[in-house]
Amino acid sequence: MSEQAGHFGPFGGRYVAETLIPALDELDAAWRAAQVDPEFVAELDGLLTNYVNRPSRLTLADQLSRAVDGGKGIRIYLKREDLNHTGAHKINNCIGQALLARRMGKRRIIAETGAGQHGVATATVAAKFGFECEVYMGAEDIERQKLNVFRMRLLGAKVCSVESGTRTLKDAMNEALRDWVTHVRDTHYIIGSVAGPHPYPTMVRDLQAVIGKEARAQLLEREGRLPDAAVACVGGGSNAMGLFHAFVPDAAVQLHGVEAAGEGIATGRHAATLSEGRIGVLHGSKSFVLTDDDGQILPAHSISAGLDYPGVGPEHSWLKQSGRATYAAITDKEALGALQLLARTEGILCALETAHAIAYLPRLCETLRPEAVVVVALSGRGDKDMSTVAQALGVES
Ligand SMILES: *Cc1c(COP(=O)(O)O)cnc(C)c1O
Repeated sequence: MSEQAGHFGPFGGRYVAETLIPALDELDAAWRAAQVDPEFVAELDGLLTNYVNRPSRLTLADQLSRAVDGGKGIRIYLKREDLNHTGAHKINNCIGQALLARRMGKRRIIAETGAGQHGVATATVAAKFGFECEVYMGAEDIERQKLNVFRMRLLGAKVCSVESGTRTLKDAMNEALRDWVTHVRDTHYIIGSVAGPHPYPTMVRDLQAVIGKEARAQLLEREGRLPDAAVACVGGGSNAMGLFHAFVPDAAVQLHGVEAAGEGIATGRHAATLSEGRIGVLHGSKSFVLTDDDGQILPAHSISAGLDYPGVGPEHSWLKQSGRATYAAITDKEALGALQLLARTEGILCALETAHAIAYLPRLCETLRPEAVVVVALSGRGDKDMSTVAQALGVES
């Protein structure tokens, strides 16, 4: 797989203003040097262990397996990113980029956030490292995500309301890029998924790859073999790339990404970028994107805020086009059902994003051999989604 200058086949690259290229070059060089610096690696390992709480557990979901495997004796394992500090995988990336920012002599961190989860993870690491932190967020999203805005402020971050355009994530991204160009001397921009211009898709993947690296070793120890399939939900695609990366060279391990079909593909209200999108440019790289006939970015929809994104990381576009990974889409309703199924069979309340991966399991198991082994990225815990779930189920929380 070619990663020449941040390209994944025809995808990736850098579609940004000329003024940003030096900043991206500086970041790329710093990241490549840090990755092979034993001191940096040891410090990152220490933070992952003692702050993030890694390695995350691998839980055999035996009751869930029985509920979805059609009597085939399939063993489904959950890679428990919900047990990380802050309750999801996003911290793996943020802690690494914060450490890199300090190494680069930066004192200020910026980020953009839609639902607020990446903003919270960024505000968390900024507090830990003593950085000044500003998070750009669409005015519409600030209104919708009051609790996460409050969390960020408690953690000491400034939340900047973006009033331009549709007042959502896409506009917040533009504002963050503008800030970065202006303040690049002292500022690092933390992108929260495997999206954005090179080197972000590669760097974020490498920081999230700890998920698959651990899962691979844990499965070899527990099962004595590699899994038949690895499954993860896909918003921007970072928890999925994190799980997949260690298995990409193992041709016998199927890779399955699960997107949000929202209210149903036919309604047009969905976030199934890889299933329904076209090749285009969003957030500085070439990938599949949800666009109209004129190439305008379409609004995405999903019950889960973290999957509600009209783009996807470029490496996923390449994994799809090259046939190495397959991508399916799950509706809001199916995800809600899966969240309840996991809760009742395993005693785990997962995030609505994660529930999309769970909902795909019956469909996957139909195609697998008896006694197959499956690993699912349990990307996050569900606390943040309880009022959304209650509302969707028509009950009071
Ligand atoms: C943000 C988020 C996602 C989606 O982001 P990816 O980059 O696709 O991983 C999935 N699950 C949880 C719990 C999240 O917070």
